[in-house]
Amino acid sequence: MNHTTKILIIGSGAAGCTASIYAARAGLNPIMVHGLQPGGQLTITTDVENYPGFEHAIQGPWLMEQMEKQAAHVGTNIIHDIIMSVDFSQKELGRPFTAVGESGDSYVADTVVIATGASARWLGIPSEQKFSGFGVSACATCDGFFYKNKEVVVIGGGNSAVEEALYLANIASKVTLIHRRDSLRAEKIGQERLFAHPKISVIWDSAVEEFLGTENPNSLTAVRLKNLKTGAITDVKTDGAFVAIGHSPNTELFKGVITLDNDNYIVTEKGSTKTNIAGVFAAGDVQDKIFRQAVTAAGTGCMAALEAERFLSGH
Ligand code: FAD
Ligand code: NAP
Repeated sequence: MNHTTKILIIGSGAAGCTASIYAARAGLNPIMVHGLQPGGQLTITTDVENYPGFEHAIQGPWLMEQMEKQAAHVGTNIIHDIIMSVDFSQKELGRPFTAVGESGDSYVADTVVIATGASARWLGIPSEQKFSGFGVSACATCDGFFYKNKEVVVIGGGNSAVEEALYLANIASKVTLIHRRDSLRAEKIGQERLFAHPKISVIWDSAVEEFLGTENPNSLTAVRLKNLKTGAITDVKTDGAFVAIGHSPNTELFKGVITLDNDNYIVTEKGSTKTNIAGVFAAGDVQDKIFRQAVTAAGTGCMAALEAERFLSGH
């Protein structure tokens, strides 16, 4: 099937939904393509306490459900598909952009907003893959349930790691946070909660060398740690390990197509969502390695839709 639109929005997280809301209200009849994770990263968390407008914590999945409903209500055509390839070459001036979905459908658009966000990063050691799904996870809200009254470790020192540790402390009997340095980069409020929690302890200056366990069936039993200051190696017994070391932008699709920086984030003009291709805009975590918050993703989603509207009226 062939879809044509004035504005194609790739991704349905906070950035994609907000771009859709603004584009639909501007009469652009947007198409928003869901991708593999409808609603984006906030659908894999629980409490959200810093999205403005709510006195008490709200649930991430609920917030994204509301955003999508709002986008649909104002007239966004939301399509369950994953964009597999794009052609932004515009061989002839004014030729629309094209994208092809996993479904085989093609999308022809006058403007594009890329809002493909980011995905969990892994340590990249072979045993991590071996025990992935068998004790090693990157999502506490998805897999924490399996560790009721068991012992778990969380690897990382940012907001995600601290939140995962606090979440798991409600389920597991013991949580150990493992961090490669001697201080956390997470917000102070999270750190205070973590340090005060009776079930949580921290191992500092340590990196995971290996995930250890039994085979047939694979089952994690311990993590081997190296103290980065002393070089000492220790095995810490655990039933589960949650890797929470940050996220990488979902830009594989755009390599060689659009300008990316050294960390593969889409480069946008200062104070704008414009990419190096006129008519293609980028919003949210895919172009933001500094703030990476739901509210900033929503903010840049709004900017992208407004800039696309201006681009269309100028052409
Ligand atoms: P994402 O939410 O990553 O969404 C990307 C979208 O793009 C997804 O819908 C995906 O399916 C789609 N997509 C990707 N590739 C394709 C493709 N090829 N075709 C079509 N679609 C595609 N922020 C806060 O402000 N407060 C919090 O409390 C908070 N908690 C968090 C907890 C966790 C565990 C995590 C991981 C993040 C948290 N964040 C929080 C950060 C926040 O979730 C992100 O900043 C925000 O989700 C970014 O929105 P986004 O729309 O840019 O991208
Ligand atoms: P992050 O802030 O980039 O933190 C990643 C952590 O993992 C850092 O502590 C880093 O160590 C560590 N790390 C990175 N690579 C590692 C490796 N190979 N081995 C061991 N440790 C490694 O990522 P994040 O915590 O996922 O947060 C991402 C963004 O989402 C942030 O902007 C964050 O504020 C936001 N977020 C917000 C909330 C909230 O507002 N409540 C919740 C979750 C996430 P170093 O410290 O040594 O670099």
